[in-house]
Amino acid sequence: MAKGGIRQKRNREGRLIVVSNRVADPKRDRKAGGLAVAVGETLEATGGGWFGWSGEVAPDARHSKPIVRLIDGIYIVTIDLTSEELDGFYFGFSNQCLWPILHYRIDLVHFEQEYYDKYRIVNRRFANALAQFLGPNDVIWIHDLHLIPMAAELRQHGAKQPIGFFLHVPFPPPEVVAALPRHHDLFKDMMAYDLLGFQTQRDTACFRNYAMQELGAVMSRDGSLQFAGHRIQCGAYPAGIDVDSFTELSTNAAARKQIASLGESVGNRAMLVGVDRLDYSKGLVERLKAYREFLKTYKENRNKVVLMQVTPPSRETLESYVQIRRELDRLEGDINGEFGEMDWTPVRYIRRAVSRSKLAALYRASRVGLVTPLRDGMNLVAKEYIAAQDENDPGVLILSRFAGAAEAMEQALIVNPYDVEQVAYALQVALHMPLEERRERHRALLATIKKEDVHAWSRAFLTRLQRTKSGFAGTLPLDKKANRAARQTTQKPAQRSAGA
Ligand code: UDP
Repeated sequence: MAKGGIRQKRNREGRLIVVSNRVADPKRDRKAGGLAVAVGETLEATGGGWFGWSGEVAPDARHSKPIVRLIDGIYIVTIDLTSEELDGFYFGFSNQCLWPILHYRIDLVHFEQEYYDKYRIVNRRFANALAQFLGPNDVIWIHDLHLIPMAAELRQHGAKQPIGFFLHVPFPPPEVVAALPRHHDLFKDMMAYDLLGFQTQRDTACFRNYAMQELGAVMSRDGSLQFAGHRIQCGAYPAGIDVDSFTELSTNAAARKQIASLGESVGNRAMLVGVDRLDYSKGLVERLKAYREFLKTYKENRNKVVLMQVTPPSRETLESYVQIRRELDRLEGDINGEFGEMDWTPVRYIRRAVSRSKLAALYRASRVGLVTPLRDGMNLVAKEYIAAQDENDPGVLILSRFAGAAEAMEQALIVNPYDVEQVAYALQVALHMPLEERRERHRALLATIKKEDVHAWSRAFLTRLQRTKSGFAGTLPLDKKANRAARQTTQKPAQRSAGA
């Protein structure tokens, strides 16, 4: 019945269809923030739907039909994957090829042709399943690195609707991207979209350069790209948080209780906070080294500060993640062993996920927020830390210049995360910053994250997408240069000379 429902509504004006690898639970996740908050209302108002992977693995997934549910006025349409598809598409190509390359880590790319084949097969399956639900007036918004070829696959079904894509992670310079095997074959499919959104101006510029240098696209005066007779608009749409709800979370009665008990537990020492998934992009090893350097150089702070590092595990089966965990465990032990005293543990390392409400209290209770990724698409923790501060007595944000957030959050203490002495010095400056300067910086940062909150982000992207008249022809012929490149990528590896 629900499936009939989504079909009946297909002629309504401007129905929004969101596609992402994992589908949010509208009830639970609209409270938790992120994409569900950003698009929930529009989905509901337009009778739209959210499409993606169910999170389930089933041996007969290839032959089963999409599951359609109606939750809170939003159609949730999901498909299962086989375990081979999940291995190749998700653990293989997405996590071991695209994630490292897009975070500038060529050294960690582990490419296998099988991974890429499965990635394309899953994208085709997603498109085949979604195409049957699409109506002529729908507007489609596809998310993130797992689904780059989705628009090209949908065009094969004759889809002429406006299709937008948002990349949540960085896009590096062309010479980095070019190290990924099959990159031409993959990224030429970005040209089937009508609107491409990136986190920062830097990512947008890198993509434009890649499209011109590697695919032979031509840039127009307004910054859009022309490729095979199709116009692709691109722009920076910095992702934000739900500032008001986060501020509420950090000031309610539960938070006040939590803050008091945290203060007691650290003996009223100054708290420094870091909150990051266990990932090599987050600069955790460098951060602990900087903290060690800080305790070594600025001795007067010993026994007066505590670093609370919250690090939930992720992708635990991959070797690069196992290694970093080992290194962090060792460093934490070293620091606590070298500097700790009977009544003082310099680093408290929490190796599991903490709820948003507890995090909000922890941010507010902390004198310094340490956000020092080696590379990050945006980094929402930086924004959450600012939203949670007491404006009369705010803490100081130390922010890596390589986080997307740094492009607009200029009043943070901006650091190079590879430079442990500089980060150690920034810690010293942050802990001794006069109240007036802290207030000034916080005021400016709060204004920025309010201006660029999650609602502004989705509104800006969707408004531009809805204005787009796609008129896409249906297939994606490559131009001369790209054709040459594509031919190279379809040769067997042994035939191919060095390069693509
Ligand atoms: N987060 C959480 N519990 C934790 C650690 C992180 O709820 O224990 C949340 C955090 O509040 C933030 C998100 O996870 O909203 C992390 O987003 P970010 O952009 O900083 O990094 P990502 O993990 O997406 O790379």
